[in-house]
Amino acid sequence: MSEKRNKRIAEHLKKMPPIYRATYKKAVAGKSLRAAVNSFCAECTMWQREEVRLCASLACQFYPYRPYKPNESGKTISCSNQPPDGPDFAPELIKSED
Ligand code: SF4
Repeated sequence: MSEKRNKRIAEHLKKMPPIYRATYKKAVAGKSLRAAVNSFCAECTMWQREEVRLCASLACQFYPYRPYKPNESGKTISCSNQPPDGPDFAPELIKSED
């Protein structure tokens, strides 16, 4: 990674809640598309899991892949082993699916 990119990433990391940093690091390292989507959705909603679940941006390219989307019965589904009634959006607890 270039020095310039590393610097930008370090600056960006400082602006996000610590609990989301591991997933972001995994995403920017190119290690997981799942981490990239989770991290992007978390940031898009200012790190509010409920807002990701309720996302109304139907045209967003990540909409079908966002974490915590409700299933057909309206229940929130986890993209992995994160329980729907678990702690606030914690992407580092989400198992990579790539
Ligand atoms: S799916 Fe929704 S929460 Fe995720 S990036 Fe798109 S607009 Fe944001």
